[in-house]
Amino acid sequence: MTDCIFCKIINREIPSYPVYEDDEVYAFLDITQTTKGHTLVIPKKHVTDIFEYDEKTAETLFAKVPKIARGLEKTFPEMKGLNLINNNKELAYQSVFHSHIHLIPRYSEEDEFA
Ligand code: 5GP
Ligand code: ZN
Repeated sequence: MTDCIFCKIINREIPSYPVYEDDEVYAFLDITQTTKGHTLVIPKKHVTDIFEYDEKTAETLFAKVPKIARGLEKTFPEMKGLNLINNNKELAYQSVFHSHIHLIPRYSEEDEFA
């Protein structure tokens, strides 16, 4: 999709900080670090929201999340927990209409942004 910022990120037209990449999936740091390591996981195929996934794309994307979570745990051993968030449509706080899963690491307060 030409007008989608996440498609542009996948195509490297907009820079991002990569966390994980394979042929189908890209994970990169959210520009707004809710906490240290806040990551977005997206399908390389443009999918608007959860209602638009075909089964194979959903399987491929969601199956990669545990591996990416373990990668974050390795990078940030002080991490104490992890929230997965997936917003769908404007009323549910989706602001970028290329489907994505937020991985938000949780820490004890003193480690949150350090
Ligand atoms: P949503 O509100 O749609 O669930 O989340 C969209 C997320 O995309 C937000 O957390 C926002 O900070 C992030 N975001 C928006 N534009 C960019 C960008 O250009 N680069 C990166 N890395 N993240 C972005
Ligand atoms: Zn897109």
